[in-house]
Amino acid sequence: MDPIDQTAEWILQSQRLVVFTGAGLSTESGIPDFRSPGGVWSRYNPADFDFQNFLAGEASRERYWQMATEMYASIREARPNPAHLAIYELDRLGKLEAVITQNIDGLHEKAGHGADKIIELHGTALHVSCLNCGKRYNRDEIQERIKQGIKAPACDDCQGPLKPATISFGQAMPERETQEAYRRSAASDLFIVIGSSLVVQPAASLPLAAKQGGAKLVIINRDSTPYDDLANLVIHGQAGRILPAILGRVEEGIKS
Ligand code: NAD
Repeated sequence: MDPIDQTAEWILQSQRLVVFTGAGLSTESGIPDFRSPGGVWSRYNPADFDFQNFLAGEASRERYWQMATEMYASIREARPNPAHLAIYELDRLGKLEAVITQNIDGLHEKAGHGADKIIELHGTALHVSCLNCGKRYNRDEIQERIKQGIKAPACDDCQGPLKPATISFGQAMPERETQEAYRRSAASDLFIVIGSSLVVQPAASLPLAAKQGGAKLVIINRDSTPYDDLANLVIHGQAGRILPAILGRVEEGIKS
């Protein structure tokens, strides 16, 4: 059977569909991923994103905020692309249990899902938090301070270091989100990975949890992943084309 038709058929049969997304879902919204040519790793030093580095001192925090400010410019302007919108449509049709995302760009929320449907495993770039007292700020408010010349912003209440509310390499994963992601993955009956190289842990072990829980695994990604052999179906290509095609078949299936 054609892989698009097969995926649509599985979605129609599914009672607990979980979609797991990575940076590749948002490249068509103009946000570069990490590992593709022209991606973030070809322009920045991965060590500068390291959490210990951020904690190390004022100079490294200033460098971090400089990179983060550049990256935020594209995140702020980005709009959901046809793949985000197709996932939202599946939600509207009552076919989506949850979307677990490694992305920090807020595009699933902008596509329309309620907050209860989205698990942000690596946090969000749309907020900032104080590493000392946990106070949260709107990102735009803090970017405004940077525009005014502050290089490494500090908390109004406790003067602790402020950092975008994302999870950096070496930083602890958020406990509630991580547990919830494992629980929902293990309980899913269909788990669809979209736009992830599946090399960043612990997020990359979720497909395994789903598979061990009895789910069918579908991987939709431009390049191969280490989990392709484990998948029931692999579709190599562009998410912004493949997802709307799958959605179209699901809609036809619901009508017929
Ligand atoms: P990754 O960069 O490791 O892999 C992205 C994958 O997406 C690649 O395998 C690539 O082949 C594929 N891809 C790229 N464009 C695609 C498209 N249009 N259609 C289908 N596939 C496409 O990203 P990752 O696996 O998400 O892991 C890296 C980390 O990057 C995550 O922790 C995430 O937090 C962070 N990140 C997020 C954003 C974002 O929020 N948009 C951007 C960059 C990095």
